[in-house]
Amino acid sequence: MEHLIEKFRQFIKQKGLKYTPEREEILREILSLEDHFDVESLYLQLKKKNSKISKASIYRTLPLLVEGGYIQEVYKQGGHSHYEVTLNKQPHLHFICIQCGEVKEALDHRLNNLIEEFERQSKYRFLTYHLEIFGLCPNCREV
Ligand SMILES: [Zn+2]
Ligand SMILES: [Zn+2]
Repeated sequence: MEHLIEKFRQFIKQKGLKYTPEREEILREILSLEDHFDVESLYLQLKKKNSKISKASIYRTLPLLVEGGYIQEVYKQGGHSHYEVTLNKQPHLHFICIQCGEVKEALDHRLNNLIEEFERQSKYRFLTYHLEIFGLCPNCREV
């Protein structure tokens, strides 16, 4: 974890921005998260730990974390973005229910093999990907 923090510090300085304890606290919290998050859930999580981080500084810091490759925007819902930590996470599918907003993740090595094949063919070097499938979850399709 510490080398990630150090890399982030350098990244912020390279951009000519000020490295603040708030930014570091946000990054540490995010790196400890397993699940998807959005600004609201991250804010509540920090608040539970008696943090004084404001929503505004979360809004300012998330784009930097995306740019630095720590997190990625995985889907938008109700007009706001959800994120997940990119590091140490296998690329996976997201099934998103358009009715209730439930999100399920799915991993399948056949899919990963296919993407690797695309990578060879395209001569790109893929860094990460995410796939979204929209539909109705088992509960919502009943109606
Ligand atoms: Zn649903
Ligand atoms: Zn995910």
